[in-house]
Amino acid sequence: STTSQLPHIAFLSSPGMGHLFPLAELAKRLVCHHGFSATFLTFTNFSSPKQSSFLSSLHPAISSISLPFIPLDDIPTGAPIEAILEAAVSRAVPHVRDALASLKQTTRLVAFVPDLFGVDLFPVAKELSIPHYIFFTSNCFSLLFFLQLPSLDMTTTCEYRDLPEPFLLPGCLPLPGKDFLSTAMDRKTDAYTWILRVMRGYYSAQGIFVNSFEKMEPGASEALKNEKNKYPPVYLVGPYSRPGLDESDEFHCLDWLDQQPKSSVLFVSFGSGGTLSMKQTTELAFGLEASGQRFLWVVRCPSDKDMAAFFDAQSPDDPLNYLPDGFVERTADRGMVVPSWAPQVKVLAHVATGGFLSHCGWNSTLESVSQGVPMITWPLYAEQRMNAVMLVDGAGIALRPVTQEDGLVERGDVATVVKELMDGERGKVARHKVKELQEAAISALSPEGSSHFDLTKAADQWMNSVKESI
Ligand code: UDP
Repeated sequence: STTSQLPHIAFLSSPGMGHLFPLAELAKRLVCHHGFSATFLTFTNFSSPKQSSFLSSLHPAISSISLPFIPLDDIPTGAPIEAILEAAVSRAVPHVRDALASLKQTTRLVAFVPDLFGVDLFPVAKELSIPHYIFFTSNCFSLLFFLQLPSLDMTTTCEYRDLPEPFLLPGCLPLPGKDFLSTAMDRKTDAYTWILRVMRGYYSAQGIFVNSFEKMEPGASEALKNEKNKYPPVYLVGPYSRPGLDESDEFHCLDWLDQQPKSSVLFVSFGSGGTLSMKQTTELAFGLEASGQRFLWVVRCPSDKDMAAFFDAQSPDDPLNYLPDGFVERTADRGMVVPSWAPQVKVLAHVATGGFLSHCGWNSTLESVSQGVPMITWPLYAEQRMNAVMLVDGAGIALRPVTQEDGLVERGDVATVVKELMDGERGKVARHKVKELQEAAISALSPEGSSHFDLTKAADQWMNSVKESI
């Protein structure tokens, strides 16, 4: 049959890094293994030539439509990421309506699948009678949090950090209020109002895809699946982690790693936009030095006001200027510092890499698991504190540094946790567990695996819906 006769799925990736790859992987699997064709709706404002060429290289049966430019100049500079997301998605509504309506006429459209922030587009899909789903690009623990927070909001009034008891989500570790999603840390903000609306919207999805797998979080995944009448159907389809084949290495990190002993290097990196304060940068530097361990550190310019410099991670300043005097020289025999960006997947895949000090972004976490590298948790924003709880106390693949009341990790505590991960007993246990999870991830995606099974279930339902409509 020709591509236009295949059942068709429309995907939408919201602005910001990190959502497009896993969504594209979902599309590719549905196209290659289950007989669908697909279209990506993309935001012209936020797309780059790299993104466009990535999408066009996926598969001949996957096309893309870039939505008309959305004016956002009334959003003040320095506005929170949530404000940008909310405006971009809600202003895209008429364009998404046009795109979906035309896809409905020209294809056999069976579903609309935006990523986790696409809830404001559901009314349009409903209007056009297109079944609508969510691709939740984080894990089951966070998804349960999204599904349950609206009821906690109804029954409590204090800021969550002042809750007397941790939040108990089914099948999950107790979650202290201070570790909640960063957007929920101030209930008076517009960002919080928006995220609550997003969370409530999940209940009107026909299904939710999650970028995780059963063995990673058995309790949470079981809770989601067992409560069939309470939540929309949940499909655990991951882990989709970036293969990193196209990564370039302008600072020659990989050549440097080639010179280091097996499993001896700690990779230190805070995602696509994470930044530290000046004081924390200094403590981390002295701590790495005192640990005596080898390290490869992606250094960003410090920023005291914002933990995430999403849209300008490449600041014009040289980040290395902010390191303590003489640090680079003193650690030259066992440390490498690179400004702003490293080929993370290739670094994690390198035999010399033995640990990852990470902000616990979900993509970074899955990349670490997929390469069997144990972690040190250093959460900064979004759902990263929740991820850290799960990685340390649940999956057992990460160690947590001692943190002061004000959030600072002091140099001595940096040195202790780094030595423990790279050279201690607890590090050994975490390394063993992450290697087990690495195996489990491979088998989840195999033709007999749980993630393949869940995807097949969703695909079969869509296929049947086409047959019924003929
Ligand atoms: N990344 C990279 N090099 C860097 C920093 C980040 O390639 O120096 C990539 C990383 O491999 C991951 C993504 O950027 O795929 C970050 O996604 P994540 O969900 O971990 O965090 P976010 O950037 O969304 O906070």
